[in-house]
Amino acid sequence: MDLLKDVKYIKGVGPNRVQLLNRLGIFTLKDLITYYPRTYEDRSKPKFIAECVDGEEALIEAYASGRVQEIRLKGKTMYKLVIQDESGKATATWFNQSYLKNTFKMGEKYKFYGRVNNYFGKITLNNPVFESYEKSSNTGKIIPIYPLTYKLTQNTIRKIIENGLKEVGQDLPETLPDYILKDYKLIGINQAINDIHFPNEFSDFSKARNRLVFEELFSTQLALLQLKNNYIHSEDGIEFDKNVKMSEIINRLPFKLTKAQLRVLEEIDNDMESKKNMNRLLQGDVGSGKTVVAMVAAYKAVKCGYQVAIMAPTAILASQHLESFKSLFDELQIRCELLISAITKKKKEELLQRLKNGEIDILIGTHAIIEDNVEFNNLGLVVTDEQHRFGVKQRTKIVEKGQNPDVLVMTATPIPRTLALILYGDLDISIIDELPPNRKKIETYAVTKGLEDRVNNFIKQQINEGRQCYVVCPLVEESEEMDLKSVIELYEKYKTEIFSEYKVEYIHGKMKAKDKDNIMDRFKNGKIDILVSTTVIEVGVNVPNASIMIVEDAQRFGLAQLHQLRGRVGRGEYQSYCILKYKGNGENTRERMKVMCDTNDGFIISEKDLELRGTGDFFGTKQHGIPDFKIANLFEDMAVLKLVQGVSIKVIADDPNLEKEKNKLLKELVKDKFTDRIEI
Ligand code: ADP
Ligand code: MG
Repeated sequence: MDLLKDVKYIKGVGPNRVQLLNRLGIFTLKDLITYYPRTYEDRSKPKFIAECVDGEEALIEAYASGRVQEIRLKGKTMYKLVIQDESGKATATWFNQSYLKNTFKMGEKYKFYGRVNNYFGKITLNNPVFESYEKSSNTGKIIPIYPLTYKLTQNTIRKIIENGLKEVGQDLPETLPDYILKDYKLIGINQAINDIHFPNEFSDFSKARNRLVFEELFSTQLALLQLKNNYIHSEDGIEFDKNVKMSEIINRLPFKLTKAQLRVLEEIDNDMESKKNMNRLLQGDVGSGKTVVAMVAAYKAVKCGYQVAIMAPTAILASQHLESFKSLFDELQIRCELLISAITKKKKEELLQRLKNGEIDILIGTHAIIEDNVEFNNLGLVVTDEQHRFGVKQRTKIVEKGQNPDVLVMTATPIPRTLALILYGDLDISIIDELPPNRKKIETYAVTKGLEDRVNNFIKQQINEGRQCYVVCPLVEESEEMDLKSVIELYEKYKTEIFSEYKVEYIHGKMKAKDKDNIMDRFKNGKIDILVSTTVIEVGVNVPNASIMIVEDAQRFGLAQLHQLRGRVGRGEYQSYCILKYKGNGENTRERMKVMCDTNDGFIISEKDLELRGTGDFFGTKQHGIPDFKIANLFEDMAVLKLVQGVSIKVIADDPNLEKEKNKLLKELVKDKFTDRIEI
């Protein structure tokens, strides 16, 4: 059995389905069998119609007591069937499925599974799945439900996974050492993989999940600890001169630093002056003033005779950083330059030469600065502004351009402290938990469709007062083309119907860098009133005059991401607004919207986000800059996370490089951890 075998060789997978599976990230047999269910439906225990509770999903065994009726409604056709068991009658309804007309035989028995609506005793099953009572294969048991894109049905993928599991049999090689399985009472890999897909009982599922979650979190923790060990065991870091005081530059700033900024700078200063390498994570909400902290640290490094590299995730952000740095450093004759891929070859050559000669003090740029031909004279400090785009690998590459430079990693995604301590186990952590004074709270409103006109009038009013507006569309999960379509459609609607008298433009991730920069520049300069975009465009961009942000289909975003987006407004003197348009009336949706309206505190929001997020959320943990776990849910699985952290510490203390025979499998697990797919 070859786990890396192409999924196209699995029974039931033809050319079309290969493509659909690939889109879900399933390329190999291994990918297939580790494509875990999002949830399960208990179709194992039938209920009587009369017992059904409003809102629950139920399995009913009943007779078709009439024929399917066809009812035409606005634009759709409804199909209705009356069904009956010993306890009473119910109606099953479906939409637009004309084949149903001839599917049921009056008087025959079927199994139906679906959501129950009980309206004053009148029971309806909406869009139930059904099977003949005699030949049922998808009811009568616990059924896995997979996260899917359209075009691939649950039945299809379930069948394909079943075929995959058949090929594997019981022959999966164990991935955890025996002693770990025993000590922590974990079930074997074969049983775990089988039961996660097709559990007989929910208790089987729990055991399977527990084992897989343990493994996933354990390997991440081990990998992090190994990384940290590598830093510690590397040669000594730079001892920056104690006589160069950060206060020299702090006193030149146009504002007073907050207590939090000062505290964080003290931590950084201590690291810089100490012999040990700095590997520090600086966490702080959008607008909390991280950039200025980086500037102060950079000043110290330069005054001590070293060069500084600042790496930002996009050209726009890098340029913005350059502006900030120059405004402070030009008059001090500290030389800052920008390296992005868009500069001309000639200019680049000249810049690289000066960098090598030590004629540039601070180089700010995008990933262009990790290219091989970029050589520093004496790089002493590296700052990466990650916004969860750089991984360990890129960071390592830039660090290798110096002799053990100090490293400061900045991130604007607040995550709860307990989680940060564990997930960034390889870094020391500093937190800016205070915003500069006099920041106005961004007024946030969650609205449904009925209020659209009022929202549009409000936008007009703001623009007439001279402000600008962002409109953000969600990513559509299916494909990038669809994302583009949704942006462009919305743009057309805004431009031609609702806001025809205003200047409306759009921007998205697929545009050429030059065009994007052009649009952003024009927006920054006030030449555009309304900018429609996907989320792919940068969140840290500073447009103080933009005072209003509209988020379309806000229910589709994670809270942490909404908070990030909201941070694009409220950057100037004007009262700013964030309007979350949402659909659906689920309790979870309403509660999530309420959190956004109630607080502007990123830490509270991120905690709530983890709590309210159901498993299998498409807009997963990526927004936190956390590795995207396949099965673990960091809120639900906090206890396991803490457990494995303890276990990892013990294992690494006993065997730092995992070289002992008993840890052979762990070494394999960790090796897989920092591939391109999972980055921290
Ligand atoms: P972040 O990078 O954390 O999102 P920035 O560093 O871009 O935040 O800061 C946001 C804005 O606040 C900038 O215009 C910056 O000059 C300003 N700022 C930073 N610190 C302070 C402070 N202590 N007092 C007043 N304004 C500040
Ligand atoms: Mg910033």
